[in-house]
Amino acid sequence: MIDPFGRSISYLRVSVTDRCDLRCVYCMAEDMTFLPKADLLSLEELDRLCGVFIGLGVRKIRLTGGEPLVRRDVMALFRNLGARLGSGLDELTVTTNGTQLGRYAEDLRAAGVRRINVSLDTLDAAKFAAATRWGKIDKTLDGIFAAKAAGLAIKINAVALKGFNEDEFDSMVAWCGEHGFDLCLIETMPLGEIDGDRTDQYLPLSRVRERLSRTWTLTDTDYATGGPARYVRVEETGQRIGFITPLTHNFCESCNRVRLTCTGTLYMCLGQEDAADLRAPLRRPGATDEDVAEAVRAAIARKPKGHDFVIDRRGAAPALSRHMSVTGG
Ligand code: SAM
Ligand code: SF4
Repeated sequence: MIDPFGRSISYLRVSVTDRCDLRCVYCMAEDMTFLPKADLLSLEELDRLCGVFIGLGVRKIRLTGGEPLVRRDVMALFRNLGARLGSGLDELTVTTNGTQLGRYAEDLRAAGVRRINVSLDTLDAAKFAAATRWGKIDKTLDGIFAAKAAGLAIKINAVALKGFNEDEFDSMVAWCGEHGFDLCLIETMPLGEIDGDRTDQYLPLSRVRERLSRTWTLTDTDYATGGPARYVRVEETGQRIGFITPLTHNFCESCNRVRLTCTGTLYMCLGQEDAADLRAPLRRPGATDEDVAEAVRAAIARKPKGHDFVIDRRGAAPALSRHMSVTGG
């Protein structure tokens, strides 16, 4: 699949549920209303749609959410997709908050998952509880170490939040180095109504990098995972740090991904409203996979050049009304 700007689309992110067992302050309001379960694609439908995408050239699939591991029977989807590894699909991975990894790490590995991203914004228990509203850090840490013990490579995702974790990055780099984890730092993106003001949270990663380089020797690398991060190597630990800077740096030129929501809506860009409904063609009586593939091709032909995020609109509504938990982070 080649989009109008010549970019080859090989990476599909699938939000398998909009629900979550945490309420991170930058992601959700505390009293989020979730979609009625009847609107969700079944796991069989998600598997079928993923199969169509693989047939069209997708080589990497990441399951995300909401919290993907809270969806009932989600391991069945992992197993079915895992069975496609080596025949079209190169990589199956997941982004998780880690709370369910104690239960599922071994199963993920058995399904063919080799690398996972776990979101952890702080190593401080009190701060973790504040950032996630409902979370207990020990559950996430136990999950992370269960995943390590199961042989999964781990990347820790941390959203950089002004005045919250900006003094912690040195200790997080050290902790990740000690345990053999990569670290990926993310700027906040203006997605969805939350309870506070996002401009108060925004911390440019250029500043974080500059500060880190006072303690660590950071060497630019051309390491790429198919995602939007730019990586440096930390010479002292041998681990990598990725920087995802949607706002300070436009990461769109090399965009190879599209996002499918749990209701079968395909977003061609995280930062634009345009979307295609794939649930209708999928559920049309008698529809073949080729009919669904045609709807996907038509959507890819409309993939926009890039997003229009801006952060400096103090007090203004979010750039997009939908939450990251709907589109999938
Ligand atoms: N629940 C899983 C988790 O937390 O990893 C997967 C879904 S979550 C939406 C995926 C990633 O998006 C997380 O790393 C989270 O920190 C990040 N995220 C959520 N809202 C964001 C926002 N407004 N700006 C930047 N990153 C955000
Ligand atoms: Fe849940 Fe992930 Fe959003 Fe936190 S970032 S509320 S864990 S979906």
